[in-house]
Amino acid sequence: MSSPAIFLDRDGTIIVEKSYPSHPDQVALVEGAIAGLRAMAKHGYPLVVVSNQSGIGRGYFSIEQADAVERRVIDLLACKGVTVAAWYRCPHAPDAGCACRKPAPGMIHSAVRDLDLDPARSFVIGDKWSDIELAAAVGAVGILVTTGYGNLDADRARKQRVAVCRDLVEADAEITRHLALDRV
Ligand SMILES: [Mg+2]
Ligand SMILES: [Zn+2]
Repeated sequence: MSSPAIFLDRDGTIIVEKSYPSHPDQVALVEGAIAGLRAMAKHGYPLVVVSNQSGIGRGYFSIEQADAVERRVIDLLACKGVTVAAWYRCPHAPDAGCACRKPAPGMIHSAVRDLDLDPARSFVIGDKWSDIELAAAVGAVGILVTTGYGNLDADRARKQRVAVCRDLVEADAEITRHLALDRV
């Protein structure tokens, strides 16, 4: 049977938001990221990163630079015992009309195929409204974190009964709460 997954945005959610990061030295983990991701891993669902990287399509940095940044994130997580099952990236500019730039669900569709996932039992965590729209597009539960740009959309999220969490530790508590409700 297909497994649920925990889909995570990268910039502003796992690493500190730095507009269009292009060098590994710009990578710093958000406070609580390691503790939150470790806790999430205990649910037994794969962690999958889905990240818009339009800096590539806009010509701000190359795919090789994007790879180097991503590699640093992977290394920082791995040395703390956190393994991400798969990384997806949309490299396109907003006007490219691609199917993968969030909130379009292309990256999740790829992950569902690659890893045999059940999006309707999954979670999507991010700091932007596009992450919440992405969750809705695939029938997953969206969770807004107020790291990164999250405060900009916190009121809108609360009005629409979307969980608003301070960091990934709180987001994991929200996941735990949902899973407990599902079991009743
Ligand atoms: Mg983000
Ligand atoms: Zn794309």
